Amino acid sequence: MPKKIKKIGVLTSGGDSPGMNSAIRSVARTCAYHNIECVGVYRGYEGLIEGDFKPMDARSVKGILNKGGTILKSARSKEFRTKEGRLQAFNSLTNAGVDGLIVIGGDGSFSGALVLNQEYNFPVIGIPGTIDNDIYGTSHTLGFDTALNTVVDAIDKIRDTASSHNRLFFIEVMGRDVGHIALNAGIAGGAEEILIPEEDLGLDRLVESLNRSRKSGKSSSIVIVAEGDKIGKNVFELKDFVDENLEDYDVRVSVLGHMQRGGSPSCFDRVLASRMGVKAVESLLEGKSNYMVGLKNGEMKLTPLESAIKGKTKINLELLRVSDIMSI
Ligand code: ATP
Repeated sequence: MPKKIKKIGVLTSGGDSPGMNSAIRSVARTCAYHNIECVGVYRGYEGLIEGDFKPMDARSVKGILNKGGTILKSARSKEFRTKEGRLQAFNSLTNAGVDGLIVIGGDGSFSGALVLNQEYNFPVIGIPGTIDNDIYGTSHTLGFDTALNTVVDAIDKIRDTASSHNRLFFIEVMGRDVGHIALNAGIAGGAEEILIPEEDLGLDRLVESLNRSRKSGKSSSIVIVAEGDKIGKNVFELKDFVDENLEDYDVRVSVLGHMQRGGSPSCFDRVLASRMGVKAVESLLEGKSNYMVGLKNGEMKLTPLESAIKGKTKINLELLRVSDIMSI
């Protein structure tokens, strides 16, 4: 029989994402609902090592549901990658009487949680918080939907100026290894082309597509480029390429950068965070460990942390086809 959980710690780790605060609130309130204690851990694994904890009750998480970022702060910790660092973290947890940990973050943060469990048999549950949507075992990570809305809003605004001047814009969006943001926001923003890490569309096709757009009378063109697009050229190099190889194009570049991570979480992310927090706490109370909570076919499901870390998400190829048809 696993030990009965009486006090749960929660931390945010790695890159922040909108919805993390909503998840912290959900964890604290679910603990209060089940009459167990909850502590917030500041600065991810750094704060875990240092014992930087703060008790959280239902009221102490008021007013954060709609706030971007994370009130607990996030960090990357080199020390937690060492055995000594993790021993210190384990000691901090036991000294504070914490007997279960919820980690909100990406696959790196889950790897840390898994090692802590393997070394000290400490119960851990993960909540996927990253805008990239690159975690296996959930159709949506926390923050993905908000980031999409932010990017689409930016594309709409850039479109206004692009069409006023008959310009071509290369817009870089986040996604070093996956193109989920680029593909979805590209379709929603009416992009003429979308360049992603998963598929090499090739420069020839880009040229052909731009020429086709021009001939068909379009007054502006927008190409969405994921950071790690497979053509291997960044937005500035793409601009240079068009300047050198195509005549009469007035090309501009916009790198959206960190604004994609900020902002008030969308309705979808707030609901998702609330559900994930409940599922995470209740899973720990049921004696479960080493799982990530995720959304599958509309339901909250558990995936072993190991699969969540190792598994790869796939791009929806149908979306590429839809994008092609829409940009005719
Ligand atoms: P993002 O999606 O923003 O990259 P992430 O959770 O993947 O988020 P990482 O920087 O990879 O972010 O990991 C966060 C922290 O987790 C690291 O700074 C480190 O402290 C811990 N961590 C990652 N991998 C391991 C590991 N193999 N062993 C121990 N700790 C780890």
